[in-house]
Amino acid sequence: MNCNKAIKEICRYLDGELDEGLKNTLEAHLTYCNHCNAVYDSTKKTIELYCDGKVFSLPNEVHNRLHEALKRKLQRDS
Ligand SMILES: [Zn+2]
Repeated sequence: MNCNKAIKEICRYLDGELDEGLKNTLEAHLTYCNHCNAVYDSTKKTIELYCDGKVFSLPNEVHNRLHEALKRKLQRDS
């Protein structure tokens, strides 16, 4: 799994939408990739901030904004 793919999957991972295989691959990537780990961390914090600790049932608007922010970050980094 490369970083672009990992970051794309992070949102779905936090939504609980990843299947077991992908989830394991992503978790493995996060353990050795500091870059993606940082993205994962800040994404998780953002979601928790918005949802008051509830990682699930993110409002669509927030979800879209999060995706936009991640996309911008990806573009900046590449
Ligand atoms: Zn990575």
